[in-house]
Amino acid sequence: MELTHDLDLIRKRLKIGRSHIAKTTDELISTLDDFLQAADQLSVNPTQDQEFSQSVLQLFTETQRILPLKAVLAEHRETYAYISRLHKDIELKFTVNPELLGTQKAQGLRRDLVDKMVAQQFVLEGTVEICEDFQQVRNLSIISPSLREQYQATMVFIRQLEAGDVDQALQWQTQVCLPVRLVFMLHKAKFVRILKNRNASEAVKYAKEHFEPFTDLEKPEIERLMGALIFTGNLSESPYRDLAHPDFESQLFRHIATEACRSIGLPLSSGLETVIAAGVQAMPQLLQAAPLLQDRLWRTQFPVEMKLSPDLRFHSLFVCPVTKEVTGADNPPMLLPCGHAISRHALESLAKSSARGKFKCPTCPVESGSKDAMQLVLS
Ligand SMILES: [Zn+2]
Repeated sequence: MELTHDLDLIRKRLKIGRSHIAKTTDELISTLDDFLQAADQLSVNPTQDQEFSQSVLQLFTETQRILPLKAVLAEHRETYAYISRLHKDIELKFTVNPELLGTQKAQGLRRDLVDKMVAQQFVLEGTVEICEDFQQVRNLSIISPSLREQYQATMVFIRQLEAGDVDQALQWQTQVCLPVRLVFMLHKAKFVRILKNRNASEAVKYAKEHFEPFTDLEKPEIERLMGALIFTGNLSESPYRDLAHPDFESQLFRHIATEACRSIGLPLSSGLETVIAAGVQAMPQLLQAAPLLQDRLWRTQFPVEMKLSPDLRFHSLFVCPVTKEVTGADNPPMLLPCGHAISRHALESLAKSSARGKFKCPTCPVESGSKDAMQLVLS
C-alpha cells in the first residue's frame, strides 16, 4: 500500500537523518573540546598564546567545514519533503467529508487532553528531556519532576516484567511504591514458577519466607497456593490448572503493569496510539453516520453507537432498556429491588404514570416504587 510505503520511507529517512545529525554533533563537540583544552593551557601558561591562536583558527576552519546548523537544517528539509509526500498521498487517497468536518468543529478539540497525551508519550518513549522542553514551550506543568521520576521508575519496572524477570522486578518494586496486593502477585508468580519446576520443598520455603506480610490481606489466595502444593508435578491436571496455563504469567504481569501504571496515573499504552487505533475503527462508522451527525451537536453523548474492539473499551456503559439512552451523570442507572436496572429518567416516568406510586419492572412482573431503587455506580 502506498501510504505504508510512504511511512517506511519516512522511518528510514529519520534513521539516516538521526545518524547524520549525531555525527555532526560529535564532530562539533570534539572540535570544541580541543579548543577548550587549548584555552585551559593558555590560562596555565600565557606564553602559549601562539598555539592558542592556532586553535582559534582551527575551530573557525572546522566549524566552517561542518556548518552544524546548515547540516541539521538540510536533514530536516529532506525529512519534511518525505512527510509532505505522505500528506499529499493521504489527501489523494481519502476525500474529505464536509459533514464530518462540521461535527468536529461542533465538538471542539480538548487541547488539555492532547497536551497530556503528548507529554505522557514522551515519557513512555523514554525521552524525558523532550517532555520537559515540550512543557516549557507550552507553559504546562502536567508532569512534575517527582512524578516524572515515578514514571521513569515504573517504566523500568514494566520493562523487567515484560522481560519476565520476576527477580529483578521484586527487587525494583520498592522503587515504584507498588500497592501491597501487587507485591503479593509478584511473589505469587515466583512461587508458581518454583512449583512448575516440581520443587515443592523449595516452594514451601519461599512461601514461609515471603508470604507472611500478606497473611491477613491475601489469606484465601495463600491457602489456594498451599493447596496447589499437593499437585506439584501434576498441576495441569489438577483443580489448580489455571496456574499451569501457558499464559498465566504473562497475564499476571500484564495486570501488575496496568495496575502499577494506574496507581500513579500513567497509561500503560500510548494515548496517541489508542486514539489513532480507535479512529481507524470508528472512521467507517462515522462516515456512514455523517448525515446524522449534522443534525445534532455532540454534547456529552455521541448520537451513534461506535463498535470498537474490546481492548479499546475503557468504560462500562449502561443503555437503559426503556429509553434506549446511554446513562450518564445526569441520568444514572438505577437498580430496582428485583435486580433489574433502568435509567433514572425511565424510573421517574414510570413512577409518574402509576396511580399508586408503584409500578411493574419493565423486564419482570415485580412491583416497586421509585424510593425502592438504588443508584448504580459503574466503574
Ligand atoms: Zn425486574
